[in-house]
Amino acid sequence: MTTLTGVPVSPGRAAGVVVTMPAPVPEPPLARVPEGTDLDAAAASIDTAARAVTDDLFARAERATGTAAEVLTVTAAMAADPTLAADAARRVREDRETPARAVWDAAQVVVGQLEALGGMMAERARDVRDVRDRIVAQLTGLRPPGIPEPGHPFVLVAGDLAPADTATLDPATTIALVTEGGGPTSHTAILARALGIPAVVAVAGAGELRDGAMVLVDGGRGTVELDPAEEAVEAARRGNVQRTFMGPGQTADGVRVELLANVSDGASARAAAAAGAEGVGLFRTELMFLGRTDEPSVDDQVAAYADVLDAFAGRKVVIRTLDAGADKPVPYVTADGEPNPALGVRGLRTAVAHPDVLERQLEAVAAAAKGSQAEVWVMAPMVATPDEARRFAARCDAHGLAQAGVMVEIPAAALQARWVLEEVAFASVGTNDLTQYAMAADRELGALAELSTSWQPAVLRLVATACEGARAAGGRPVGVCGEAAGDPALAPVLVGLGVTSLSMAPAALGDVSAVLATTTLDRCRALAALALDSRDAWAARKAVRAALPELDELGL
Ligand code: PEP
Ligand code: MG
Repeated sequence: MTTLTGVPVSPGRAAGVVVTMPAPVPEPPLARVPEGTDLDAAAASIDTAARAVTDDLFARAERATGTAAEVLTVTAAMAADPTLAADAARRVREDRETPARAVWDAAQVVVGQLEALGGMMAERARDVRDVRDRIVAQLTGLRPPGIPEPGHPFVLVAGDLAPADTATLDPATTIALVTEGGGPTSHTAILARALGIPAVVAVAGAGELRDGAMVLVDGGRGTVELDPAEEAVEAARRGNVQRTFMGPGQTADGVRVELLANVSDGASARAAAAAGAEGVGLFRTELMFLGRTDEPSVDDQVAAYADVLDAFAGRKVVIRTLDAGADKPVPYVTADGEPNPALGVRGLRTAVAHPDVLERQLEAVAAAAKGSQAEVWVMAPMVATPDEARRFAARCDAHGLAQAGVMVEIPAAALQARWVLEEVAFASVGTNDLTQYAMAADRELGALAELSTSWQPAVLRLVATACEGARAAGGRPVGVCGEAAGDPALAPVLVGLGVTSLSMAPAALGDVSAVLATTTLDRCRALAALALDSRDAWAARKAVRAALPELDELGL
């Protein structure tokens, strides 16, 4: 029996067959069809391939739901457009290009035209490339690009996933995710948790896993077991009951800890509300800004924000303004070619060169808030200094948004929290970036996964300092909305450090609330002291687990 190990990022166990992510479709060679080839038949093969691709995409769109269904329908409609196939067929007949090469060249012309038009049109170039790759794969017998659809549930094994692929990830068929790259707070990991898919990243040797192999993935322990015993597979099936959250969140002695959800659009907000979240602690607004070449209109933004607010009428929703830059480039806001994008002009810093983008976003948030019953709070990402916080609060105030706050995800903001929080109404600790900057460890890098954990006492000290600063600044509430908030062993530690709300992927709400319900505030404080006094992350986790046997009793 072989067991591969990696970094556990999304809990749960699942057993199934491996399906690997297909390699990108290569550019077909510049070749002519041999003399004597039936050119009409060769040209007709393009039509047949395009039709097969269209039918397959429409069928998949019908089976899928939400964003995945939308993405597939758009791609299917594009594959059904006869213009591309007609130009490719002409190239076969007149220039004797091979069908695959003809499709490639015909697509290049369309891509060039769309990119020259700019704006919304240029975004469609990506769809044309996708259709091109699918038709070429069909013609040459290669596997089509994107998330595979073998017709049965499977364990997806990949180097890492591109953002465009994650949009079509369907938890009904992808029962577990194993990647060779990626860190614990990479966007692939965050998405797996949001979808409730057990996942292990940074798995050494994942590249050796072959299609059809049977594996048991444990997303809580970070293991991938090859050819597991039948009993282990059965136990995994039985043990996978998700704990439900009945709310409200509180410690054993009745101290309230709001348990909130991280969302990115209306669909995820509705799912979070259905899972019992008491509100939204982090609405990442980036989704509608990414993957396009111009800014969404104010009207489009109002509609997107209202969609989320409507799911939480009467409850709190913390909307974060655009966090562009680094792993989330937005071409009309962020600069290309910065030597260190994570240390560059990102988050709130982009508002210096593009104040208008922030103004329009705040205008849209204010309009959506006016038309909704939700209690709207607004916060800025990547704030480092009290002056940045003051300027942001002033802009919110100008739009009538009274509850303005900041993310504390830069060590400087944590250390100077007393001054930063005198300028705003609340803080939310982004432990993903706070860990990245405290440990100087790129959060997307699997090789640094050991460093990239919020169990690092150095990170916990920053959280403690932020909470002390918030108290000194008049008792401002401090939440945590980084991935640490959803770790059931770390949650009581954060509460012990002074955190008053926790915001997480909805799937984690049940486990976190179960642990808090067993633990008094005094005990949380004792656990926090144990973690702070530890030598390193490993020792901190071990000390807390030893002092909190309820974790084992709850199976966590
Ligand atoms: C964080 O940095 O912890 C955070 C919540 O923001 P994001 O993951 O979107 O950078
Ligand atoms: Mg962040």
